[in-house]
Amino acid sequence: MALYDRRVTSIQEPAVVRRQRQRRHSGPRWSLLVAVLATIALVGAVAWWTIDDEQQVAGTSTDQPVAAPGSTEAPTTEPTTTTTTVPELIVGPLEAKGKPLPVVYRIGTYDPVVFITVDDGGIQRPELIDFVRSSGVPITMFLTERYTGGDGIEYFSELQDLGATVQAHSITHTSLRGKSLDFQQREVCQPVDTYERNYGERPRYFRPPYGNYDTNTLVAAKSCGLKAVLWWSATYDSGTLRLQEAPLRRGEIILMHFNDHLTQDLQLLLQQIEAAGLRPALLDDYLDAAPVLP
Ligand SMILES: [Zn+2]
Repeated sequence: MALYDRRVTSIQEPAVVRRQRQRRHSGPRWSLLVAVLATIALVGAVAWWTIDDEQQVAGTSTDQPVAAPGSTEAPTTEPTTTTTTVPELIVGPLEAKGKPLPVVYRIGTYDPVVFITVDDGGIQRPELIDFVRSSGVPITMFLTERYTGGDGIEYFSELQDLGATVQAHSITHTSLRGKSLDFQQREVCQPVDTYERNYGERPRYFRPPYGNYDTNTLVAAKSCGLKAVLWWSATYDSGTLRLQEAPLRRGEIILMHFNDHLTQDLQLLLQQIEAAGLRPALLDDYLDAAPVLP
């Protein structure tokens, strides 16, 4: 498969927006309180430093860099940078670049996070539920309608209760590229309605089977209110991580599948993510926070 011959990304990292994390399964308002207190503390610290710097410029201290005489610039101390802390997240915009919807390969973010996505859903192993419960690993599930009806609804509802989200991955898993708009509209949009009924939440994202899409796919996705079409920048299967571009770094969208060894793979992948100084985050949080540039 020539999946990795494609361009790396349509996402750049220009203007930065911030939005508070709004996870559906978030706990009480502690996080908000912490954020407010942290902001107050930060403002206080900045005010303190500003005053302190002015005193230094005025000559009360000589052990810090001082602006040149007559200069209105601040002293040339290095700006302090801190890593982003929950509940804040930083994500770049999704660029549509003249297309009806953005196609997302990676997430432009300064947070040390990667995103785990799991596709299809035909194989539903019970140990996955235990692992998601014990590890708390955030997963975005792109489900194929035909593989996930009947008893599957209960299975994926259980994962949803543990924080996983349900997104759309067509009815029949057929390759959509080159198909008529009518055909694509049904494949893209019917699962959106079905999953809203079955899981109580309307999918916001679509992943085309095999990654094959064209303009009709994007038009169809837009017509039923979807916000973006998802691709990926990495895959993980049977203990092997494949990257469009090494090494594993922040913003990576990792593709996996519901199969017999998914739980084992997740365990290994989480070790690899941690070893890279990263952590998994819920893709939906970042996609929902990102503005779409036309
Ligand atoms: Zn698939």
